This record gives sequence, structure tokens and C-alpha cells, in this order.
Amino acid sequence: MNVRKGDMVQAVTGRDKGKTGKVLRVFPKKERVIVEGINFVKRHTKAQPPEQQGGILKKEASIHISNVMVYCPRCNKATRVGHRKLEDGTKSRLCRRCGELIGK
Ligand SMILES: [Zn+2]
Repeated sequence: MNVRKGDMVQAVTGRDKGKTGKVLRVFPKKERVIVEGINFVKRHTKAQPPEQQGGILKKEASIHISNVMVYCPRCNKATRVGHRKLEDGTKSRLCRRCGELIGK
């Protein structure tokens, strides 16, 4: 899994192709992620008083990890992610294109 919670990613396929958003949740076993603002689905909900109103709720649905790529703010593009070991021994992910660290 190259994508982690909090990463900025871009949808590379599907209805929301080209849109970017922040990863809200990651499901490693299913290889799926939920990305803010991407893959909205409408859900019809029943009213559950007192806290919930009935009606149509728009909510992000999970999408497969292969449908998103990590977005590099420096390149302004979706990019492949490389891995590098830093001098202090921690592993870091970086943009293969420009070398910018991702999610530091
Ligand atoms: Zn980059």
C-alpha cells in the first residue's frame, strides 16, 4: 500500500478522474480507500429521530487503490511513489518525478 491516511491523491480513472482529495480512510485488506470529495454516492436514508433526518445523503464510497495515485503538490500531478531510507533510519516516501517527500 503506497497510500496512507492523510495523503493527497488524484483519481486516475472513473467518474471523478482528475479530481484530487485527501485520503480519509484506508482498508488495507480490501485494497480500498475513501477519498474526500471523490466517488460520492447518494444514499437514501430513513429518518431516525431525533438525530437523523431522512432523505438523500451524499457520502463518499470507497474506491479501489488502483484508481488513485498519490498527488505531488510540487509537480502538481499524480505521481509514482518511491521509497528511500533517510539518514536517521526512518523510511520515507517520495515523488519519483521530483524527489519531494510525500506525507512527511
Ligand atoms: Zn513531484
